[in-house]
Amino acid sequence: MTPSPCEQMQPKSSILAYNYDELLELMSSLGQKPFRAAQLMDWLWKQRCDKFDQMTNLPPKMREQLEQRFDIIPLEVVEVNRSLGGTNKFLSQMRDGQLVESVIIPAAVAQNGERSGRVTLCVSSQVGCAFGCRFCASGLLGFTRNLSTAEILGQILAAESIVKARVDNLVFMGMGEPLANYDNLEQALNLIMDHRGLNIGARHITVSTSGHVEGMKRLLQFEKPIRLAISLHGATDEVRSQIMPINNKWPLDQLVPVLRDWTEKSKHMITLEYILISEVNDGLEHTRPLIQLARELRAKVNLIPYNIVDGLEWCRPSEAQCGAFAQELINARIAVTMRYEKGADIDAACGQLRLRRKTAEGSCNS
Ligand code: SAH
Ligand code: SF4
Repeated sequence: MTPSPCEQMQPKSSILAYNYDELLELMSSLGQKPFRAAQLMDWLWKQRCDKFDQMTNLPPKMREQLEQRFDIIPLEVVEVNRSLGGTNKFLSQMRDGQLVESVIIPAAVAQNGERSGRVTLCVSSQVGCAFGCRFCASGLLGFTRNLSTAEILGQILAAESIVKARVDNLVFMGMGEPLANYDNLEQALNLIMDHRGLNIGARHITVSTSGHVEGMKRLLQFEKPIRLAISLHGATDEVRSQIMPINNKWPLDQLVPVLRDWTEKSKHMITLEYILISEVNDGLEHTRPLIQLARELRAKVNLIPYNIVDGLEWCRPSEAQCGAFAQELINARIAVTMRYEKGADIDAACGQLRLRRKTAEGSCNS
C-alpha cells in the first residue's frame, strides 16, 4: 500500500535547538524583523510556551510559518514514576519512538514551608550507550543514537511541567555518555546558560563522563566553568578494565593528565564517582590508590552503593562495608559523600526504567 502524504511526512525539526544568532538568521530568511528573534526566545524560554499560536505578540503570518516548519517540544512523556522520597522518574518518547529517561530530584522543603535547595534534573544524552559498562542498565541494550540538542533540552521543559517548578540544577548522569555526543551537548549547554535561554549558571551544571578523554579535551576548551564528574569506579587499570571497557581505549595514564589539566583550569573540584560493588572494588585495599588519586587531583569522592540491575550478576555491599570504605577516605582527609540512590524503589539507576520497558516489549513481541 502506498503511504498517504501524511505518513510520508518527516517529523518537523524542533525550534528549541536554535540559539539566538541562528534565530536571527531564521528571521531574516522568513522576511521577519530581527527583534522577532528575541520575542521568540522569550516565549520559548521565559514563558515556557509550547504552542506557536499562543505567541500572541508575533504576527499571525510568522506564527503560521513557524508552525509549518517547526515543532517545539520534540518528545512526549509516556510514563511518570513517583517514589516515596519525592523523586520523579519519567520516560519520554521521541518522535521516532525511541525512549529515554530522566529523574527529577525535588528541592527539599524546610520546616517553615519554604523551599531550600534546588530542583535537580538528571538528563539523558543518548538513547542507550555504546560504552557497555558491565554494571549499568544503559549499556546493556547497546547504543541506538545520539539525542539531538532539542531532545536534551526538551527533557528539561517536560520535567518542569511534571513538577510545576523550575529546574535549576542539571546533572548529565542519565542514559548515555554525554561527551560522545559533544556537539549537541555543547549547543544545549549554551542555550541552558544563555540569559535569553534557561539562564542556569555554569556552577549548577555537572557533566558526568566515564572517562571519554577526547570529549574532555574539547570540554576543557569550553569557556564556561561547568562542573565535571568522573565515573571512576576503580582507581587502578585492573579494576576499571574489569568493569568499564572504555578503560581499554583510555586507560588511567591517559585519563589522569586530562583531569590534572581540568583541576588546574577549573575553580571547582572534580567529583570522582565510585560505585561500591561487592567483591569487585569495595575491599579496603582499594582505598589506597583512590586516596592517592583524589589527593593528587584535589577531588572529592562520591560513593554510591551499587544499585542492583536485573540480569546483572553484581551485588551491593553491606552498609557496614560501605561505611568502612568511606571511613578510610575520611581518615585520609578526603572529602567524601555517600549517595544512597534516591528513589531506588522506582529503578533510579540510569537506564533501568527503559530497560524494564524494553524487556517487557521484547517478551510481548516474541
Ligand atoms: N555515561 C556517563 C553518564 C551517565 S551514567 C557516566 O558514566 O558517567 C551516570 C552515573 O550512574 C555514573 O556514575 C554511572 O556509573 C552510574 N550508574 C550506572 N549504573 C549504576 C548502578 N547500577 N548503580 C549505581 N550507579 C550506577
Ligand atoms: Fe554508558 Fe555511563 Fe552506563 Fe557506562 S555508566 S554504560 S558510560 S551510561
